[in-house]
Amino acid sequence: MEYKDTILDLIGNTPLIKINKINKGLRPQIFAKLESANPGGSVKDRIGYSMIVDAEKKGTLKPGGTIIEATSGNTGIGLAITAAVKGYRCLFVCTDKVSSEKINYLKAFGADVIVVPNTYEPDHPEYYVNVARRIHEETPNSVFAYQYGNPSNPEMHYRTTGPEIWRQTKGKITHFVSSIGTGGTISGTGRFLKEKNPNIQVIGADPIGSIFKHYKETGEIIKGTPYLVEGIGQDCLPANVHFQYIDKIINISDKDSFAAARRLTKEEGIFCGGSTGTIVHVVLEIAKNLTENDVIVFIVCDTGERYLSKVYNEAWLQMNRMLDTEVKVLGDISYNKKRKGFGGMVYVHDNATIRQALKIMSSKGFTYLPVLNGSLKPVGSLREGHVLSRMLDDPKMLDAPVKEIMEESFRVLDAKSSIAEVRNALKEAPAVLVSNFGRITDIITRYDLIDFE
Ligand code: PMP
Repeated sequence: MEYKDTILDLIGNTPLIKINKINKGLRPQIFAKLESANPGGSVKDRIGYSMIVDAEKKGTLKPGGTIIEATSGNTGIGLAITAAVKGYRCLFVCTDKVSSEKINYLKAFGADVIVVPNTYEPDHPEYYVNVARRIHEETPNSVFAYQYGNPSNPEMHYRTTGPEIWRQTKGKITHFVSSIGTGGTISGTGRFLKEKNPNIQVIGADPIGSIFKHYKETGEIIKGTPYLVEGIGQDCLPANVHFQYIDKIINISDKDSFAAARRLTKEEGIFCGGSTGTIVHVVLEIAKNLTENDVIVFIVCDTGERYLSKVYNEAWLQMNRMLDTEVKVLGDISYNKKRKGFGGMVYVHDNATIRQALKIMSSKGFTYLPVLNGSLKPVGSLREGHVLSRMLDDPKMLDAPVKEIMEESFRVLDAKSSIAEVRNALKEAPAVLVSNFGRITDIITRYDLIDFE
């Protein structure tokens, strides 16, 4: 009889699929590493398996134990598959950004799923990773898988994904393109490939709003802003992102990611999710400058079935202004700024001193600054001219908090506001603040609008 002992024997050894159509006019050979062919439909089955087996070996996971994880869904699915075979319980904490398909998938495996709002910052106790850690501390005989810092994550890609790609391309790979979520895939695979041939370029695909690209280029940690692509990018730095194995990181918008995912599906028949779209857009961009001798391998992170209510739903795309035919909105001005290399939004806290605010203004060259309170709600604004004239009158004020001299806050407009609304608001005031999913994410000045148009 021909059979596998368990479903776990199907994890890994995924095929490479040649790309034939979406790369028309481009010279390199391009291959998709079909991680969606894993039994749970994503690249995360590999680490679901390794994190459980390694915890068993270390003795931290014992019979009857509970596995707890903070997950955007796929790692949960990967853990749930191995846990089902080995007889462990699972409890997952997801944010409300995760598609309902993925949450229902986790429940199908008998896992408990807790959904928390996506709006909390990493230092808040209700941030999904902090909630998972707290539940672990309160649950006897439990382990916290913690894919963001658990070495079993990159290690599994070093031991399996990297060697598979090297073998499948007979060592001819020149460029490896991956997204960066926990960093496990790119760090482990990248390390293996670079050990084989240090000339292989390892390239990260990062959503606009994530902090990785800016950190790689400047060493500075900026504030992240929300985006719609699931499972990749971060607003803090996971220990599993090993930047030394990443040569370059490229930022891609939600709209370009979803369009590329839909093309890979419709033209190559490879059904994929949004994060694969972010990667595919990067692949097509870098391929323009490469030759016939180059061989690009990219990761298909997961299957599109997981996003039928989102990336493959016209109504959802339209509601989120992700279709090309749509009129431009305030969010597009913000994207335009970020594409041109401006970092995150610059602001001051209301209890910062006037001296600190002036320093920020002069070092960044800004004449306006929004003032936000401890909950990052806008409470006022600073104009350089006004601040300086107050200081001329009373220089002792320099060490007073900005809230003592700040003026009225700039108007807040939703990222979906029309350009006409933005233009009207900017006729009345020099700047407006952008609100995205309930968070202030940018400041747009008259200059930004003119530059956009
Ligand atoms: N795409 C999706 C849909 C994911 O869920 C993840 C993992 N969170 C990734 C890509 C990125 O993989 P990694 O965590 O290994 O960087």
